[in-house]
Amino acid sequence: MAKEPLMDFDKAIEKFDVVIGLEVHVELNTKSKMFCGCANVFGSEPNTNVCPICLGLPGALPAVNKKAVESSIAIGLALGCEIAPNGRFARKNYFYPDLAKNFQTSQYDEPIAFEGKLDVEISDGQTFEVLIERAHMEEDAGKLTHVGGATGRIQGAEYSLVDFNRAGVPLVEIVTKPVFGAGANAPELAGAYVRSIRDIVKAMDVSDARMERGNVRCDANVSLRPKGQEKLGTRTETKNVNSIRSVENAVRYEIQRQAHILDRGGSITQETRHWHEDRGYTSAGRPKSDADDYRYFPEPDLVPVQPESSWVESIRASLPENPQHRRKRLAAEWGFSELEFRDVVNGDLLDLVEATVAAGTSPQAARKWWTGELSRQANAQELSPNELEITPEEVAKIQSLIDSGDLTDRMAREVVAGVLAKEGSPEEVIEKRGLRVVTDEGALIAAIDEALSQQPGVLEKIREGKVQAAGAVIGAVMRAMGGQVDAARVRELILERAAN
Ligand SMILES: [Zn+2]
Repeated sequence: MAKEPLMDFDKAIEKFDVVIGLEVHVELNTKSKMFCGCANVFGSEPNTNVCPICLGLPGALPAVNKKAVESSIAIGLALGCEIAPNGRFARKNYFYPDLAKNFQTSQYDEPIAFEGKLDVEISDGQTFEVLIERAHMEEDAGKLTHVGGATGRIQGAEYSLVDFNRAGVPLVEIVTKPVFGAGANAPELAGAYVRSIRDIVKAMDVSDARMERGNVRCDANVSLRPKGQEKLGTRTETKNVNSIRSVENAVRYEIQRQAHILDRGGSITQETRHWHEDRGYTSAGRPKSDADDYRYFPEPDLVPVQPESSWVESIRASLPENPQHRRKRLAAEWGFSELEFRDVVNGDLLDLVEATVAAGTSPQAARKWWTGELSRQANAQELSPNELEITPEEVAKIQSLIDSGDLTDRMAREVVAGVLAKEGSPEEVIEKRGLRVVTDEGALIAAIDEALSQQPGVLEKIREGKVQAAGAVIGAVMRAMGGQVDAARVRELILERAAN
């Protein structure tokens, strides 16, 4: 299998209308699984978080995880959906080597949420309204590892291992209606949509939202039709794409691949496809018709889900601000340049900067701490900035001591280092390390006198207008005082002396 012939992207867009449809699976971060009490955690020893229910043993009876229902309702509401007052689970039957029940408990014709919409902005500022058809609850399957082959795929493998830890983990599947009219923006829109979903579920804290762990993954449907044609073209579904860049690239690739085939009078096979991130192409998976019969039927072991409207309304009232609105609001409030703001967002520092500003620091100072020294420290320790052993309140405290002249920038960095090294609060670190700016003017003047006596002629040079000559004296004073002086004040004193 290799890359197939492609049509130039711009040419493909000229000749064809692009229609995309996106199915995003969000893994919820509930403590336990969807229908049993097993722990829902990542990275355990294989087959340790399992029980008769999620292993599908005969006679085991499932029960619905209330928190998972609450999170699903929250996702539905955040996407502007209606919440079904009455919904049932259904069994989706087929052979699943990684789901021992041989059916997946899902929702079919009665999803918990339906008919929503999400405004998605792309980089040039255009906003597209993406209509949401449904968001339904289901369970994840386990994880297969194919061993012995060259590619890690089942083809050519000698044997396969199955880990059921993930089997039964709660998922919400969000399905869009077909998205028309994005044209050349279709790949970027697909990526931006997935990013929006990720940001929303992360802000709501209903999912860890780590795409590299598969917490959020996308099946991307793409079809083309000749310009002016009403009827939809045949679509392909590229499965389990788990990064935003890959979603963009997979959609772009499918547009170019399908355009090449259609342009030569060929036809598209309706099928699932796999995205190969390393080589940048999709390959055929299994054929998929619209009439695939999974023999759905209502799950007889579970009662219907009937959320009371008061519960739904209390969930609605507790939804956080939409992340896109929040970013716009903060960008306006803080007055950062576009580049400064992007650094904050890309560094995942929005919450930290916001909390530091709330603790009394100016937005610019808060930004500089988190994008500068603290990001550097986090990198050095291989942590994310919010895992650092320092709180926004402590950062704000340290900054206030700079503002009041009690700490120099260099000393402040030392205080930060002390807090990160768990030496205590900023005040305790300052005490233990003896970090206080020398504000005793008598001591400063004595140090300046000493430095001037070592470097005669400096005052003369300053009087002749060579103000930079003060630098050497400032350096000497700093050294003599162990750096614990405000260099700007020393400079002032030297210039005053020269003026007299
Ligand atoms: Zn279990």
